[in-house]
Amino acid sequence: MFLEPSYQRHNSKGWIEVICGCMFSGKTEELIRRVNRAVIAKQRIVIFKPSVDVRYDDVKVVSHNRNMVNSVVVQKPQDMLLLANDADVIAIDEAQFFDESLVEVCTALAYRGKRIILSGLDMDFEGTPFGIMPQLICIAEFVTKVQAICVCCGGAASFSFRLGNLKQQILLGEKDTYEPRCRTCFNTGMKEKQDSKKNGKFRKIEVSNDF
Ligand code: ZN
Repeated sequence: MFLEPSYQRHNSKGWIEVICGCMFSGKTEELIRRVNRAVIAKQRIVIFKPSVDVRYDDVKVVSHNRNMVNSVVVQKPQDMLLLANDADVIAIDEAQFFDESLVEVCTALAYRGKRIILSGLDMDFEGTPFGIMPQLICIAEFVTKVQAICVCCGGAASFSFRLGNLKQQILLGEKDTYEPRCRTCFNTGMKEKQDSKKNGKFRKIEVSNDF
């Protein structure tokens, strides 16, 4: 599987990479893999996370040969312009939670010769494009879409299915709240939800394996 762009640094000084996919598809792991390689090359790295992502503490994201890179929690994309001044590589996790000014900020940083690596959810729990991810994908030189494994059928999953009927778009959850599903199983689950709403009760979701 081709996961990382090849580049010639002497020709091209700044660029944008996007790693996208559904929940449990390994987006952050892929981000960290790329960051680790930059750590080995002794490049200066900064990792940003949105303040909305409070699932984990301010963790040390990278650990390799005693090189630790802390992630910096930022309120808004503009904060990155100053904080990333000395960095060669800028990694941004959970990019879907930032507002649209991230597009401008990433473009400005790339023009300054920085390598930007973004990771984010490309679709929300209803299967619609998430926030600014479509714009980020458009302005990026390199886009990698990673897949999870569908919990229903074992196929390639690109959708994050939310268990239950909550409507709020930003709901940070663990494995008991969301599950990765392929298109067919996602669709089946959404139909089940609609039916259960009509019937006023929640039915057990049964998924056919006939595909
Ligand atoms: Zn499936």
